[in-house]
Amino acid sequence: MSIFTAIIAREIPADIVFESDSIIAFRDIAPRAPIHLLVVPKTDAYANVTELASADPALLAEMVSVAQDLAREHADGEFRLIFNTGANAGQSVFHVHAHVLAGGLTEGSLGGE
Ligand code: 5GP
Repeated sequence: MSIFTAIIAREIPADIVFESDSIIAFRDIAPRAPIHLLVVPKTDAYANVTELASADPALLAEMVSVAQDLAREHADGEFRLIFNTGANAGQSVFHVHAHVLAGGLTEGSLGGE
């Protein structure tokens, strides 16, 4: 079970900002921007965005739509959407999720640390 499945099951707490039948979104525990949310499909069937895009593009589109709505709700509507894909790219949770970064981002940055 991934850490995100435990959050979905309310087995560990999270600051949940959105929930539907298929998607949950909550604040990242270690924010890298003034607004840093994670948008996560409830299914744990897909480890990363390429698997999700192949198998269920409609669910991927729904994630993007939720990201847009959250960026409007929590910031000025503009946002950076990051899908780390693979450990060498910084992925640490292998349950597909989008990072939504917004609010006072460094202009021109791709979000490198
Ligand atoms: P990844 O590194 O896989 O792209 O992103 C995983 C993200 O999940 C990290 O930014 C990390 O801070 C966040 N994270 C890991 N464990 C927890 C947790 O228990 N609660 C919350 N809210 N975020 C978590």
